[in-house]
This record gives sequence, C-alpha cells and structure tokens, in this order.
Amino acid sequence: MTGKCPEYVNELNDYLDGSLDSGICAEIEKHLGKCQNCRIMVDTLKQTVKLCRGGKEESLPPALESRLNNLLKAKWDKKFGKK
Ligand SMILES: [Zn+2]
Repeated sequence: MTGKCPEYVNELNDYLDGSLDSGICAEIEKHLGKCQNCRIMVDTLKQTVKLCRGGKEESLPPALESRLNNLLKAKWDKKFGKK
C-alpha cells in the first residue's frame, strides 16, 4: 500500500464485510484516521450496506457492488486528477 485513497477504495467493501486481512484492516483504519474523504466514503458505504441488508439481500448484489466500486473510483479519479 502506498497510502493513496484509490487503493483504499478498492478495499473498503471487504473492510466493511470484515473479510479483510487484519494487517490491511489496520492500514485502512490508520488511513481513515487522517483522511476525511475516506471516512465519508466508509460512512456512505456502511449506510448502503445497511439499507441492502435491511431488505432481502444478505450482501450487496454483485451488480450493485461493481457499480458502486466504479462510482467510487470515478469520484476519486476526478478528485485526484488521475488521467
Ligand atoms: Zn483517503
């Protein structure tokens, strides 16, 4: 990990699932501690996951998950000017 936000975005879904390696988890938590953007993103994801789990789905449908991922990546790419 190089500490850049887009790298964490990729892991946030797994982080919320609790399926991440504890080392990576710690990295993410460290990053969240100093990066407000990622904290907001985690909160948004948490709410989405909660909404989905409040319904019939136990986890995010794969289509929604990949759409969400693309959305997040696009957001970050725009924000940080990735070409
Ligand atoms: Zn960040």
